[in-house]
Amino acid sequence: MSVLVFADSTDGKFKKNAFEVVSYGKKVAEQLDSNVVVLTINANNTEALYTYGADKVFAVSHDALSIFNAKAYASVIKQVSDAQDSTVVILDSSIDTLHLAPLLAVALDAGYASNVVALPTSISPFTVKRKAFSNKAYSHTLISTDKKIIGVAQNSYGVFESPVAGTTESFDAVIADSGVKSEKVERITGKVTIADAEVVVSAGRGLKGPENWGMIEELADVLGAATACSKPVSDLGWRPHGEHVGQTGKPVATNLYIAIGISGAIQHLAGINASKVKVVINTDPEAPFFKAADYGVVGDAFEVVPKLIEKLKAFKQA
Ligand code: FAD
Repeated sequence: MSVLVFADSTDGKFKKNAFEVVSYGKKVAEQLDSNVVVLTINANNTEALYTYGADKVFAVSHDALSIFNAKAYASVIKQVSDAQDSTVVILDSSIDTLHLAPLLAVALDAGYASNVVALPTSISPFTVKRKAFSNKAYSHTLISTDKKIIGVAQNSYGVFESPVAGTTESFDAVIADSGVKSEKVERITGKVTIADAEVVVSAGRGLKGPENWGMIEELADVLGAATACSKPVSDLGWRPHGEHVGQTGKPVATNLYIAIGISGAIQHLAGINASKVKVVINTDPEAPFFKAADYGVVGDAFEVVPKLIEKLKAFKQA
């Protein structure tokens, strides 16, 4: 019996998500009086996972898995789960993982709970707390199947060190033809993506036009942040659709979300309220965003943002 964690990686490198799910898996294994095993696919430096409690890492390396394929990845996870007699499988909540999890649930005949924000509140019956209704509520979900899959919501549990003298073993998985093959992936290079960012600088219609985004990009550069925007901004073609966040756009669960010239409509807040610290800069003190924010600046973005950039640059230099 074991708890299996899939630690995802990009270009061989682990992201924070991987350390978060391993930290989570370690604790679930303790709750179940079981052991934690970790699966990696085409990852380098698997030793990095030992710091978070990964006693045993199974490393799968295969060219056919270099580009994500939901069916193929689900099949590999199932093979390791079967071999390790895993009763619980732990995943992150990236877009890719949200695609593979239902396939894995069918293959394992397992119950799957996504968007889980905390350790199981009970082992028997097995109950987890999840985000619901666009982060406006929590659902306490009971998984009654023998095998269980938990999708941990990004940034909800945290990363905890629990160093062990782990070992890594290669695992020979059978890679079946999934019928779908991505030939190439073109990445937007040199930019932090919203999914990977710890900090997001986001702007709305208050910026008046696309010509004013220079200061938003500069602020994002200084902070090592990703840029984002409200829906009307991408609808107007001021910014690419990939930057639109909210209920109908991308969800953002960062440590810091800075909203500049965004009113804070419910549909926008639905996508960002899982972020830890929210800062708003808006001329209108009655803007709804102030009610959702941790810190607010009532002021003109065209005055506040350049000053903020100047101060941050001076702070970094010092
Ligand atoms: P506005 O509402 O026009 O607000 C601009 C803000 O900028 C104002 O608060 C103003 O005070 C401030 N401002 C003006 N000048 C300055 C200045 N110089 N300095 C600082 N502040 C200034 N929206 C989303 O964002 N994401 C979604 O996913 C989404 N999904 C939707 C789904 C549905 C079904 C519907 C009906 C709507 C959806 N919307 C979504 C739209 C949403 O309702 C709002 O219309 C939108 O979020 C408003 O965008 P905004 O805040 O950029 O613009």
